[in-house]
Amino acid sequence: MTARVLVVDDLEPNVKLLEAKLRAEYFDVIGAFSGQEALELAASEQPDIILLDVMMPGLDGFETCRRLKAAPETMHIPVVMVTALDQQADRVAGLEAGADDFLTKPVEDLALFARVRSLTRLKMMTDELRARYATGKGLGVVDNIDVDSANDESRIFIIDDNEEQTERLKKALGGGHQISSEIDPEVALGRARSGDFDLIVVNMSLESMDPLRLCSSIRSFEETRLTPILAVVRQGDTRKLVRALDIGVNDYLTRPIDRNELTARVNTQLRRMRYVNQLRSSFQASLEMAVTDQLTGLYNRRYLASHLSAMFDRAQWTGRPLAVMILDIDHFKQINDTYGHDAGDRVIKEFADGISRSVRGIDLACRYGGEEFLVAMPDTDMAFASVVAERLRHEIANQKYVVNSGRDEINVTVSIGLATTENGPKGDTAQKLIKRADEALYGAKTGGRNRVIKSAA
Ligand code: GH3
Ligand code: MG
Ligand code: MG
Repeated sequence: MTARVLVVDDLEPNVKLLEAKLRAEYFDVIGAFSGQEALELAASEQPDIILLDVMMPGLDGFETCRRLKAAPETMHIPVVMVTALDQQADRVAGLEAGADDFLTKPVEDLALFARVRSLTRLKMMTDELRARYATGKGLGVVDNIDVDSANDESRIFIIDDNEEQTERLKKALGGGHQISSEIDPEVALGRARSGDFDLIVVNMSLESMDPLRLCSSIRSFEETRLTPILAVVRQGDTRKLVRALDIGVNDYLTRPIDRNELTARVNTQLRRMRYVNQLRSSFQASLEMAVTDQLTGLYNRRYLASHLSAMFDRAQWTGRPLAVMILDIDHFKQINDTYGHDAGDRVIKEFADGISRSVRGIDLACRYGGEEFLVAMPDTDMAFASVVAERLRHEIANQKYVVNSGRDEINVTVSIGLATTENGPKGDTAQKLIKRADEALYGAKTGGRNRVIKSAA
């Protein structure tokens, strides 16, 4: 796996040193010599990870990190602070500025490569989601991402076979979270998959199961693929730590646990999870919006076009009938002309609600045109489709639609055309089926409206 690394340090030899090490491992490296330059290059070059010196004249590392994490175009890029000081207070300040991790100078090769690899792998996973989000954003159908907004309590899951340690950890995490724990790692795996957790904390000194195997299982399940894992390791257990990071553990803490560092690391991971969750749900929302009609909430014509042919193929393949009914409101133009366009919209909405209520879950109801609707019904022959259509026509005719700010009630009638795949012509298609239903609808209109006509074919 190759990645683009931005190395930031005010001293050129430091940049050169890291550059040489990373190049030797086939990373693509860009250098920056000040915080300001780092901000510009991060935005224009979009690196996969940033190694950021803490002490620099002008914008120091903390402030640079804060700005990187605040800007929408760079907030997703992982930042590793590189510092000469191994001060607890500095680590916490860096994490609070939004840094994803720390490395101390002189930088140890093994730790450096492990961090760069694990953070860039993580970024690649979220890049896909980001790309989808950008598409939704471009279409104007999704909201802005806001990872700092007040949220529900975060759900944290501790996996540790040592109960005493678990209790200490729970205490250190403090309030504001919903914390669960499990001492049996096998049971924990099942719970992790079904629990919908925002963060999983794993004790890397587990005795009842290989903790590395546990972490790699969590990573491999679809449900927990993106759930952050925070590992708790014994001081000096570098080998295990490097393996853990390679497997996909997101971050680690060494024992004895410093409460402030724990809080800062937990918050960093939770922020990232919120970011991923928002990307996911905004993508879901944009997908739904792309296939849904805004006014009625029914599927739109675009969705019908792709989905009806699948329904049609299935009908051909199973030999079971597929029925299509097209409904068109009678003299709808008069409603608009008499009561206004908004009243017309409300009638359309109520009409659509009526359709939704009377179709089955497997039926596909869509808004086919302005005041025209199409319902596709799998496993439905003409006899049954006629019953459904007649019932719907009656319900609509008997319903009162309120208009004119509640002062008037009007009746609305509907004409319905029906067609099925039974006795369809040779080389029948979904389009031809729609056309037959449309012709039947035309027959219902010319025949006097407020009626159901079956396609003769
Ligand atoms: P028919 O019985 O022959 O179907 O008569 P009709 O008046 O219903 O049919 P026509 O197709 O002539 O007119 C449909 C009208 O529906 C015209 C159009 O302005 C109106 N319309 C289409 N889409 C909307 C919409 O989203 N909201 C509102 N309020 N009116 C719409
Ligand atoms: Mg009409
Ligand atoms: Mg019409």
